[in-house]
Amino acid sequence: MVDEEDSQLIQKVRPSITNVSDTLLWIHSKDGEYSVKSRYWIQHSLQSQNDQGEDIKSLSRSVWKLNAPPKIKHFCWRIVHSSSLGLKNLAIRGLKVDLKCILCGQTDETTNHLMFQCRVSREIWEITPLATPSGDTFLSNSLFQNLGFFLKDAGQRNYPYHLFPFILWSIWKMRNKLLFENYRQSIPHGINRACMDQTMRLEAATWQKRRIPTSNPDCSFKCFVDASWFSSQDRAGIAWSLTKDSKQIIQGSASIPPSNSPFEAEAEALRIATLEMQRLGYKDVNFKGDAKPLYDIFGQSSEGKTTWCDKSIIIYVKDIASVAKLHDYRFSYVSRRVLANVDSLAKIGRIRNAPNVIKWKMG
Ligand SMILES: [Zn+2]
Repeated sequence: MVDEEDSQLIQKVRPSITNVSDTLLWIHSKDGEYSVKSRYWIQHSLQSQNDQGEDIKSLSRSVWKLNAPPKIKHFCWRIVHSSSLGLKNLAIRGLKVDLKCILCGQTDETTNHLMFQCRVSREIWEITPLATPSGDTFLSNSLFQNLGFFLKDAGQRNYPYHLFPFILWSIWKMRNKLLFENYRQSIPHGINRACMDQTMRLEAATWQKRRIPTSNPDCSFKCFVDASWFSSQDRAGIAWSLTKDSKQIIQGSASIPPSNSPFEAEAEALRIATLEMQRLGYKDVNFKGDAKPLYDIFGQSSEGKTTWCDKSIIIYVKDIASVAKLHDYRFSYVSRRVLANVDSLAKIGRIRNAPNVIKWKMG
């Protein structure tokens, strides 16, 4: 009838040896006297211990299900456990540090502030492709509530949600860069970094799984490239768009310093596109553009016949060839009307004098 654990406790009770009568004691107060106040206190603290214990446990489990490299999973695990993260933790250990958040300088840096509530991180969350909690949910003072929003069902969530740990990681890197190197990264840079880290991971996984034969041109990626040129005094624009099976995956556009000719702008556009593909980890890409002489230099090979090409673009051709050789990049001429999309993107980049912008197409 008595629980095994209780029975062991009962056996440990030592009765009085002088026959004094038993006394009832309330163990949650100092003097052993029961009070309503102490009951409320214990009820509340037991309840929150329970909630938090549960939260931490289930959040930890979710962290290991994230689709992220081990170092980022481990970092998220540290956030869940709030260990050795943030200045406040250094202060708790007795180190003299300025507790102000380095990103905004407005309030003390806690893990929750840094990752979710800081003015800078909020701006990052707002412009990521992820749907963030609406209204004031991000104002939550509970780190667990904010983490829970993203970590709930982490294993079953689809593509954009997998970006979540990469954004946390990127905010952390941004903070450290400023703290230790006194260098403030721009917000778009922080997001680009998160998107790229994640894309590279997805691509690496896809490549391992599918092992696409590099010799089959139908299976390869196509990257459409174009430039927009107005005069040799004005900045030009470039754009590229990566597709696979006629579906767009990523696009990029930027304004570039003035080029001497439209042809040189086209060469710069192709050089930027090949370098971006290399940076993002794409192999086996077929680059397509309408600057016929430029694309003819490469023909179907990636070598590039620099011996007879236009002197103004020789340096571009050499750069493109050296990248192309490493990653199985090929080049072919296409007519202008195939490039309508990148053409208008390059124009927008030029007119708006835009910085380098990369966009991932979701879904
Ligand atoms: Zn801040």
